[in-house]
Amino acid sequence: MSLLEALHARLARRHADGLHRQRRIAEGPAGVERVIDGEALLTFCSNDYLGLADHPAVARAFHLGIERWGAGSGAAHLIDGHTRAHHALEEELADWTGQPRALLFSTGYMANIGVLTALAGEACILFEDRLNHASLLDGALLSRRRLVRYDHADPDDLARRLTQSTQPLRLVATDGVFSMDGDIAPLPTLAQICQTHGAGLIVDDAHALGVIGREGAGSLAACGVASDPLIAQVGTLGKALGTFGAFVAGHETLIETVLQFARSYLFTTAPPAALAEATRAAVRLARAEGWRRDHLANLITRFRRGAESLGLELLPSTTPIQPLVLGSAERAVQCADQLRRAGLLVPAVRPPTVPDGSARLRITFSARHSEAHVDRLLEALAEVVP
Ligand SMILES: *Cc1c(COP(=O)(O)O)cnc(C)c1O
Repeated sequence: MSLLEALHARLARRHADGLHRQRRIAEGPAGVERVIDGEALLTFCSNDYLGLADHPAVARAFHLGIERWGAGSGAAHLIDGHTRAHHALEEELADWTGQPRALLFSTGYMANIGVLTALAGEACILFEDRLNHASLLDGALLSRRRLVRYDHADPDDLARRLTQSTQPLRLVATDGVFSMDGDIAPLPTLAQICQTHGAGLIVDDAHALGVIGREGAGSLAACGVASDPLIAQVGTLGKALGTFGAFVAGHETLIETVLQFARSYLFTTAPPAALAEATRAAVRLARAEGWRRDHLANLITRFRRGAESLGLELLPSTTPIQPLVLGSAERAVQCADQLRRAGLLVPAVRPPTVPDGSARLRITFSARHSEAHVDRLLEALAEVVP
């Protein structure tokens, strides 16, 4: 078989398995009411939790940033791409998260790969929650260290596996808020276990930063886990902050090690300085405008009450990620199709993204939603979910 034939066969298999994916084309800026593939849709799928992606102050900071800094950074951070704007953003992210130091990355995917490969040196073994984001798993693969996966949000299982391991250096990684289930990792217990075993702890706060904790500082703040020399917090800027990029925050030794050794940091162009200026504006809004989190909490409560009275079974999530597990992939896809015909965009998430038999509608809320939007979703779910 030629390479071309092999590729054709793989694509055909993808179709046959019902796993073929397609992009839809959206018009206009991010928001909850959009025209997508020519249809006007109310969306419940964005990670723009605080509604900052098209906030005028963020867009304006981006504009002014371009006037001051131009379009591109021209080089990697360690060459001459690291500007005053990047540096100021790092200091503001450290201040926000209550960590001594923060280091910018171009994306969360690259941050996770960089942090895991840099911190997992020789004689290190990695432990990860079974439901961790793909980028944390890929980081472990690229580190070429042994990876042990522990049961989801199960500190006892982690402790057992740490005790069994004879490897001298250990690193544990977990999502802070799990991307498909919306639950918060049991961080106080995980942190304690890591301390007992001298293990480092990496918390991926992609879905927590801006959303939970004091001033939206994330899952560690929400759980009351203090900053620690062996805990690193990865935050992404493309979700609640509404811009693009990521960072890792923590104590000096961890951050300096990542800066020195992360290949996804060293060998890539620094993000535009103007983007850093836009993100600085977004951080200010995220910290100061607590009403965005209050409004989200109100929407979440309204949705959960309504769903309960309809007899819909939700996962025990208190975050803007509210999955409705339907079981089979066909059923989830069918419900998503019916919702779209009713003018609502709610994505069906199927295996292998989620475990077999737990295909779901992944509903997410944004501060841009109104109570009326939530009610419209509930009415449609009452029609569509048998
Ligand atoms: C989105 C996401 C990432 C990747 O962040 P990007 O900046 O989009 O690359 C990493 N971890 C989790 C849990 C995510 O949801």
